Order: sequence, then structure tokens, then C-alpha cells
Amino acid sequence: MIYFDNSATTFPSERVRSAVAGMMKDEFSGNPGSLHKLGVAADKAYGETQAAVAGLLGAASEEIIFTSCATESANTAIRGFVSRNGRAGKRVISTRTEHKATLECLALLEKNGYEVIYLPVGRDGKPDLSELEKALTEEKTALLCFTLVNNETGSVLPLEQIVAMRNRLSPDTKFYLDAVQALGKMPIDLHKMNVDMCSFSGHKIHSVKGNGVLYVKSGVRIDPLILGGGQQKGMRSGTQSLLLAKAFETALEEALESMDSSHENAVRINDYLRKELAARKAVILSPDDALPYVLNVSFEGFESETMLHCLEMYDIYVSTVSACSSKAKKVSYVLLESGVDRKTAANAVRLSFSRYNTTDEAEEFIRRVDEIYDTFAVRK
Ligand code: PLP
Repeated sequence: MIYFDNSATTFPSERVRSAVAGMMKDEFSGNPGSLHKLGVAADKAYGETQAAVAGLLGAASEEIIFTSCATESANTAIRGFVSRNGRAGKRVISTRTEHKATLECLALLEKNGYEVIYLPVGRDGKPDLSELEKALTEEKTALLCFTLVNNETGSVLPLEQIVAMRNRLSPDTKFYLDAVQALGKMPIDLHKMNVDMCSFSGHKIHSVKGNGVLYVKSGVRIDPLILGGGQQKGMRSGTQSLLLAKAFETALEEALESMDSSHENAVRINDYLRKELAARKAVILSPDDALPYVLNVSFEGFESETMLHCLEMYDIYVSTVSACSSKAKKVSYVLLESGVDRKTAANAVRLSFSRYNTTDEAEEFIRRVDEIYDTFAVRK
């Protein structure tokens, strides 16, 4: 099998599998809220895991909330922020190339009377900063919502420039960042990055599914999305899962240990594929300065889904548009919003890599693409 769909999800690493198995023992199975010693042990271990994750992300323990996924983190951040901060203004700035987890929250805000300014993005996937400057200057803005690495193209946000602009023009405006596809792949130091809220997902970094993290900078007040017994200081009620928190910590620790070598590996694979695919008249849609883990490519003469299923016959797995919405058979809105024409976008396939992929797999991929083109005889 060749799995080039790591931006959709990853398989749990061996280290995560054994960490999870370790957490299944009785001694870790108490409720962290219980007063007896099993509860106390679980609570202590949970706190240690939270501190470890915070340390790895450049944050403080109390700024880390464990959630079920990044979608929950985004909902908690965006909806929780506006619910708590009515006086911050009724205006939000974002782009139309955000993940649906953000876009659907913004659509809800619009229904509730918020004005959402969607900045245009260029062919490189980056928001127009002169439009951002204008928008930040003309009126009070409650919140900025951006994505650090786009899940469909790998386009990287000019974060430092945007934070500097916010600090200069509108220091009270808060910043929500989706860092799901950046986690473990580029340095993340939340205090240095100076964002106010940030979401992460475990299953994109070889953890299990069902675990996410939301960072909320201390001093930033948000209302919780999930109400109940007041766990996690009231920010996310529901009995804490030590097992899932530990899985996230383990996956993050492992990803960070190998971040440099993984990056070099992804660059090798990406460079090779860009060169070979361009020679085959495929159109590379990821920008040149994209993170090397994502390569979006349009295959002339093949609709996205056709190519996906042709590759699947060889046990090669890729995505069309992002996995969560790919059953809808739509052309990627991210590509269209970035100025890619509909015909090219309709043939786009996303390849996404992890540290477990190899250049041998990339070579095999190219051989199979050649076979597919030969079989269907559409090569120009
Ligand atoms: N944000 C981005 C950029 C993503 O790629 C994804 C997942 O595809 C999400 C958010 C949602 O993550 P989750 O599946 O953990 O809800």
C-alpha cells in the first residue's frame, strides 16, 4: 500500500499504540474527578500530560484544553469567543479558503448579525495583506480567523506579518489560528507566535482519532461550547480521557523529535514528484513555497475522482478535495477561491505525505501514473 493521504488522517504510530495500551490499565482508569486514590492518580496523570503538551507547544498548562477534534476546537474558539465578547464588535476577518470547521462557524456568525470580511487570496493561497490593512484600519474588528497551513494546497500563511499588522493597527483584535496541518511539521511556539487561540488535531500526526487541542491564551475569555460537570476548569465539560490525552502527547513528542528529518524526507519526495509530474503535463497547483507535505496536482484528461479510483486499484491512496467534504463530489472551493480555473480544479488530486513515506513510493507512484495514462491513452 502507498498511503499519500496523510492530510486527511494518519495511522497511529507504534509508540502511540503502546502508549494507549499502557493507559488501558486499571491504575489509569479512574475518573479524574473522583476523590479516591484511583481518581487522584488519574487526575495527576492528566495534569502531567496537559503540562507536557503545553511545554511542547510553548504554552502554559492552563492554556491547554483537550477536545475531541480540531472541529470542536474551532467551534469552541470562534463561537465561544463571540459569545463572551459581545463588546469587541461585530466584525470578523477571514478568507474563503479556511477549513469548513471555521467557515461554518463564520456562516453562523453572519446569521447572527456579524459582518465577516473574506479577504481575497492569491494563486499562492495567501490572503491579500493590503486588503487586510484596509479592513483593520476602517472599523473595529473582534476577531481574525486564519489557517497556518492550508490542508488542500500546503500554502503557508505569512503569520508574522499578519500578527505584526494586527499589533500595529488593531491590538485589541484577537487572533484564532487553525494550525492543524502545521503541527509537528513546522515549529510551533504559541507564546512567541502571539496568537490568542489555536486549534490542533491528533489524528493528523499519527495519534488516534478523537483527540484535539485548543489553546486559549491566558487572559482571553471565551464561553465553553460544552456545558456540564465543569471539567477542565469549566472550559470543556465531560469526563476527561487520559488515554486520548496521552495519545496526543505521545504523537506530538514523536513528531517533534523527527521534525527535521521528516521535513527533509518530505522535500525529497515533493521535489521528485513535482519534477516528474510536470514532465507528464500534470499541473502542479500547490504554490512553490508550500509546506512540502502537501502536493496538489491536476491530471490532464482525468477528473479527480477517476484518478483517485485508478490509483486505488494499485493500492495507492490519495484525496480529491479535503476528506471531510469529498463525498459531496464538488470541485475544491479552495482551488477556485485561489484563482485556479474550474476545469483544472476538477482534475485536482491532493497527495499528502508523512514521515513514513519514502522516495521509493514516489517512484512507484509515477510508474503507476504512467500505466494509467497508457491504459487510457490520453497522454498528449
Ligand atoms: N482544520 C484543518 C486545516 C484540517 O485539515 C482539518 C481536518 O481535515 C480540520 C481543521 C478538522 O480536524 P478534525 O478532523 O480533527 O476535526
